[in-house]
Amino acid sequence: MELDLLPIELAGVKKERPVVIAGPCSAETEEQVMTTAHALANNGIKIFRAGIWKPRTKPGGFEGNGEKALPWMQRVKQETGMYVTTEVANADHVELALKYGIDILWIGARTTASPFAMQEIADALQGVDIPVLVKNPVNPDIELWIGGLERLNQAGIKRLAAIHRGFSSADKKIYRNIPQWHIPIELRRRIPTLPLFCDPSHIGGKRELVAPLCQQAMDLGMDGLIIESHCTPDMAWSDAAQQVTPDILDYILNLLVIRKEIYTTESLTELRKQIDECDDNLIQELSKRMRVAREIGVFKKEHNMTVLQTGRYSEILDKRGSQGALCGVSPMCVRKIFEAIHEESVRQQLEILNM
Ligand code: PEP
Ligand code: MN
Repeated sequence: MELDLLPIELAGVKKERPVVIAGPCSAETEEQVMTTAHALANNGIKIFRAGIWKPRTKPGGFEGNGEKALPWMQRVKQETGMYVTTEVANADHVELALKYGIDILWIGARTTASPFAMQEIADALQGVDIPVLVKNPVNPDIELWIGGLERLNQAGIKRLAAIHRGFSSADKKIYRNIPQWHIPIELRRRIPTLPLFCDPSHIGGKRELVAPLCQQAMDLGMDGLIIESHCTPDMAWSDAAQQVTPDILDYILNLLVIRKEIYTTESLTELRKQIDECDDNLIQELSKRMRVAREIGVFKKEHNMTVLQTGRYSEILDKRGSQGALCGVSPMCVRKIFEAIHEESVRQQLEILNM
């Protein structure tokens, strides 16, 4: 399904990269919300985030203030002029968020992972014109992410964007949620007009990683950033380790290097021509290799041999892997390529065997 999208135009918010959304993980107290919001607004932030309902892994943690905190968001709007956004996870949240004039909604990672919840939200939004940002699901499933976007789009929501916040994994060595950048890159390839935000706070899980992740998102051409910022991060009631003060955030944003997305020069065109030639040659060689593999298949059939000969397979992987290292390609990459080539050769030989 093609998404029917409209750009998210917000008066007073420049469309230059990056569009920044900032604010605390949770709206804890009116004072914390107002202090953080004023500091962010003074530093030029135009869109304020805060969680009103917090999905927590285990019961008993701070689950958000709920409706009580919505008037604080209204105060933020009135006093600072910032747009406000919060997470909605069910139809009740949608109804309350709309009632209190929340400008932009976002869908959390746990919710995107649940088609029932996404459909409930989409139904609640039928006929409403509000921008909605959809985080990737906790599991690395691009179809589920796109499915969530489609449900909203079918309900008439056209001002959509995606937020990349990394993917849950048992491996917590560096990241809280591993980035798997290829997934947002694939989303961009499939839906080029969908604005793409990065959430470095939930990817990194620690404040030291916020700056490098922001830079990486910009280097990949992402449109915006949603960053957790708290007036006193160490005292935060949720996600304390990953929040930064408004001043640190300002410092991080000022240091970002924003590269142009498209800058085609004569020499780039020339280099791309060379790449195309290399790719043509690769395809031709691949086709030649498969022809030979099929001939081997005929030989094996005639001599009643098995298609797979493990010793020969290992020899190919080892030999080509070490060659890769010598010519500047990682052995892991060469291995992957030859695994794929070998798989195709085996498939073609099996075809011959069964003819
Ligand atoms: C959040 O933005 O505070 C949040 C709960 O994020 P996620 O859904 O990405 O875990
Ligand atoms: Mn958070």
